Amino acid sequence: MKKHIVLLPGDGIGKEVIQSAKDVLEAVAAEFDHSFTFETQDIGGCAIDLHGIPLPESTVTACKQADAVLLGAVGGPEWDRLPSHLRPEKGLLGIRKALNLFANLRPVKAFPNLLHASPLKEAVVSGSDLLIVRELIGGLYFGTPSERSVDGQSVVDTLTYTKKEIEQIVDKAFQSAQLRKGHLTSVDKANVLESSKLWRETVEEKQAQYPDVTVEHMLVDAAAMKLVTNPKSFDVIVTENMFGDILSDEASVLTGSLGMLPSASLNQAGVGLYEPVHGSAPDIAGKGIANPLAMILSTALMLRHSFQLEKEARLIETAVQAVLDDGYHTADLQIENGHQVGTEQMTEMIVELIKSQS
Ligand code: ATP
Ligand code: MG
Repeated sequence: MKKHIVLLPGDGIGKEVIQSAKDVLEAVAAEFDHSFTFETQDIGGCAIDLHGIPLPESTVTACKQADAVLLGAVGGPEWDRLPSHLRPEKGLLGIRKALNLFANLRPVKAFPNLLHASPLKEAVVSGSDLLIVRELIGGLYFGTPSERSVDGQSVVDTLTYTKKEIEQIVDKAFQSAQLRKGHLTSVDKANVLESSKLWRETVEEKQAQYPDVTVEHMLVDAAAMKLVTNPKSFDVIVTENMFGDILSDEASVLTGSLGMLPSASLNQAGVGLYEPVHGSAPDIAGKGIANPLAMILSTALMLRHSFQLEKEARLIETAVQAVLDDGYHTADLQIENGHQVGTEQMTEMIVELIKSQS
């Protein structure tokens, strides 16, 4: 299979972990006789330094022409004082919108060897394996008006959804549930918000098309509680942009480390953007100690969702599992009697396993 992949390293540890992703994909390509070509483009803080803006047109054009996009992370203290339209995060919001990436998939899986790092009892978390499907380009984050009054004494943010926007994310969630355990939890605030009422209605209408999926509606406050009291009861969660943002950070804590969580952002055409859930981690950037596993697991999502290469995706996930089972970990993780390694060594071990397992 021939694919062209755009790499957006971004800032901080983004640059370090993107190299791990490339190494792993090159190993996969060699083992399975695929041809992956790579092209690097600027986004975030480094793009501000080089081009004066966080999302240059050249980056957008390259991403639109690519088969998939891998992103490291954007931002850092160097750019914190810039005016809001010149912030590194605007690059990220901009590329999501430009590629029409309406669906954000965040798998949350608890690896047994890391569970003692979870704030919850092992018994509660072990076996947790859920997927959050978050609407990514609508809702409060993109509503207009979003502004402060002239006298500065009042503010407005706008929450807008069209039925069509809800339908497309709900379809994606039902389809994801069909590929998993067949259970969908739709999270809203339908007792208060008009947008949530339309959301709930739409899920109920869509249900008829997916008779093999069971559906449950849950208010967001209840869902927040249940994620910590009984995470194992979830399979797929579908929700709007802001609820999804908050719930996925909450869920990420279950696994014991931010450095373990991949994500996929998809559009209808299947061109996806794949990135770790963590940020640019300026505190550890340049030290060679960043955990590359979230980024590496993101490449597995790319192979699965953009290229339909399930076997290759599984191979990467199995290699990650095996390295952790052997007790190898980066500084952000703790494993009893384990062996601490750096970014490069961790990547190298995954690459070696890929070469030997296929
Ligand atoms: P951003 O605003 O870019 O999201 P943030 O400060 O919210 O940044 P992160 O950059 O993700 O969040 O960092 C939060 C903490 O987690 C930091 O102490 C960082 O060192 C640590 N961390 C994040 N990602 C990793 C990783 N891949 N490996 C090791 N430590 C990490
Ligand atoms: Mg953050």
